[in-house]
Amino acid sequence: MTVIHKTAQDWRVTPNLVDYEKTCATFDWAAAPNLCAEMGPGLCNIAYAAVDRHAHGPTASRTALRFVSESDGDTGLSVRGLSYGELGLLARKFTDVLRSLDVHKGDRVFTLLGRCPELYVAILGALRNGSVVSPLFSAFGPEPVATRLSIGEADVLITTKAQYRKKIAGIRDQLPSLRHVFVIDDHDDDSGAQTMGFWPRMDAAGDDAPIEPTTADDPALLHFTSGTTGTPKGALHVHGAVTMHYVTGRYALDLHEDDVYWCTADPGWVTGMSYGVIAPLLHGVTSIVDEGDFDAERWYRILESQGVTVWYTAPTAIRMLIKAGAELAAGSRFPRLRFVASVGEPLNAEAVWWGKRVLGLPIHDNWWQTETGGIMIANTPAFDIKPGSMGRPLPGVHATIVHRRDDGAVEVIDTPGVEGELALKPGWPSMFRGYLHQEERYRKTFADGLYLTGDMAKRDDDGRFWFVGRADDVIKSAGHLIGPFEVENALTDHPAVAEAAVIGVPDPTVGEVVKAFVTLKDGYQPDDALQRDLMAHARKRLGAAVAPKTIAFADSLPHTRSGKIMRRLLKARELGLPEGDTSTIETTGSASATAVTR
Ligand code: AMP
Repeated sequence: MTVIHKTAQDWRVTPNLVDYEKTCATFDWAAAPNLCAEMGPGLCNIAYAAVDRHAHGPTASRTALRFVSESDGDTGLSVRGLSYGELGLLARKFTDVLRSLDVHKGDRVFTLLGRCPELYVAILGALRNGSVVSPLFSAFGPEPVATRLSIGEADVLITTKAQYRKKIAGIRDQLPSLRHVFVIDDHDDDSGAQTMGFWPRMDAAGDDAPIEPTTADDPALLHFTSGTTGTPKGALHVHGAVTMHYVTGRYALDLHEDDVYWCTADPGWVTGMSYGVIAPLLHGVTSIVDEGDFDAERWYRILESQGVTVWYTAPTAIRMLIKAGAELAAGSRFPRLRFVASVGEPLNAEAVWWGKRVLGLPIHDNWWQTETGGIMIANTPAFDIKPGSMGRPLPGVHATIVHRRDDGAVEVIDTPGVEGELALKPGWPSMFRGYLHQEERYRKTFADGLYLTGDMAKRDDDGRFWFVGRADDVIKSAGHLIGPFEVENALTDHPAVAEAAVIGVPDPTVGEVVKAFVTLKDGYQPDDALQRDLMAHARKRLGAAVAPKTIAFADSLPHTRSGKIMRRLLKARELGLPEGDTSTIETTGSASATAVTR
């Protein structure tokens, strides 16, 4: 096993975590800094800790967010900064706007926006108001957007005119809870009764709306995540999560006050919220926000010209940079970059080494998920890396490997190297508090006092965890979790489709790509024209990030005797792997799955 050894010479600043064993042994969540102490006894609000606390006094003039977009200037980048003082003022104004419209604590405020200033202002203003914020990924198609707005019973949505026209206008009457829609690009407030201009309301708002006196147990964030079956799950997080965001920002991302930090994740996903919005603001650092989509050449330019010191990105992005070639990277220098971390999918050992060769630093993998609300297992700056490993549990996190038994109990596996399900001992502050309207589904994620993550992993003999795979059928494509059921549903809505099954197929760049198998209703022919029509239908309904990249016609799909589609069997056949236990396969009628890939 090749290990990347670290010595004190590798540190440009002393890491926040230098004695792993001692810190873990003495760590106590109750003793973590109370960032909201000045709100009053027992009170806690993420936005207070992130922005109110920094909006006055010496930190007010520091740049909180630096928005970067393409331009014709010297660096080819246009940069707009928003200081902590300005961000605090805008957040207070938005709180006032919400209150003037009778939107209060517990009401749900959704965003469907790109990475623009209004997104950050809306999130922070709504959190200050005590409202529950749910960010939606702007590349979702109409169907995922409608499902989430409906399950989440959105009261308010902040979006753009184009997004509204394309995804909301047609279904507005099916969203009875949705009282107010703001559009950020309508300065004249002329879009009729259906929407209102964000900025006209902001201009008219007061600038000293007091913060809602929320407590650590009050709901703050609603993040949707995908399961194998049923509708997306709305994972509910509370204001107390702020302690986790702060501590992990310190230990896992090694944030120091003078850092220029860039998290490339979109706040429509949990990483972009916890570590693209909240954690950097808690630490008072300057965050880079790239308003554009991935572009290898621009990304190198941003790293160099903005003097990024800490970079948090994802394996797909790193693999796309690798693919873009070493010559492109050779044109840039990164003397200020001192720590690079990655999350969201397995980070292959080659990508870790690429970082060392090309950026001058290895990539530090870490692991967590929507439900955990914050980083749980990580490679941190002071410690050696075993490339391919996710690292060790952070202080305050207790991770273990278990086997689920048939009776529902779990058996803890103490032997290093043995694969099982990754489980966590509840007690960290950002643990989700429920799946909205799905109490039973939430309950089922716990057994014998442990939270079961749905990921298969193993631990080695020095306590590092290694990712093995998902225990379920969800798909990770370009870092985005995709529920096969949501895709199958959209496909079966097409008049030609009798049945659909969706799997993830390995891809060297994006991890997995979505592949669908469909059987057709009588009277439909499996030809190219129908295939194109199905692809267009899926893209229109689901958006490019979720829609299948390939659709294959099948004569039949394999089912269990109880009627469930056996996605695992389809996947094994697709990949030429052993089919495993097929004793429950339905043998009559439609048992064969000889897919006709076109
Ligand atoms: P999400 O809830 O969308 O953040 O996705 C969480 C899932 O992404 C986890 O349950 C894992 O399956 C996967 N994941 C996250 N981080 C890693 C990692 N470092 N290595 C492998 N898989 C990861």
